[in-house]
Amino acid sequence: MKKDHPKEPTRKAESKKAVGLKPQEVEHFRKLLLDLRNRYMQKMGELAEEALTPEAAGMSASPSHLGDVGSDYYSQELSLDLIENERAALYEIEEALRRLEQGTYGVCEECGQPIARERLELLPYTRYCIQCARKIEAGQ
Ligand SMILES: [Zn+2]
Repeated sequence: MKKDHPKEPTRKAESKKAVGLKPQEVEHFRKLLLDLRNRYMQKMGELAEEALTPEAAGMSASPSHLGDVGSDYYSQELSLDLIENERAALYEIEEALRRLEQGTYGVCEECGQPIARERLELLPYTRYCIQCARKIEAGQ
């Protein structure tokens, strides 16, 4: 046992580069996250308008461009709920960008295992591997 670590953070050394993302992968995910952040911000703007403009809320018109949210989501309250969701997602995106900076991106916060690459592609701001995410969802 040598004691010549200067001043490592108290975490295990391996957590520094736990996933071993290559620089271009870091860039790749940073770009994904930034794109996603832009999209969420835009969406939030749109939702806020819908929620706050009575005519827009009254017309059951069709922001069909919100393709991923299902079809009946257009009452005012739901829009406000959605804004909350978007805001939470934005927060997660910010956190993911920070983890990217710190080199801890892509590691499950629950079990410390690397998160599957495909999962990161689909959900670049996730904190958990699929197993842990399922456990956590089931527990709620
Ligand atoms: Zn996990």
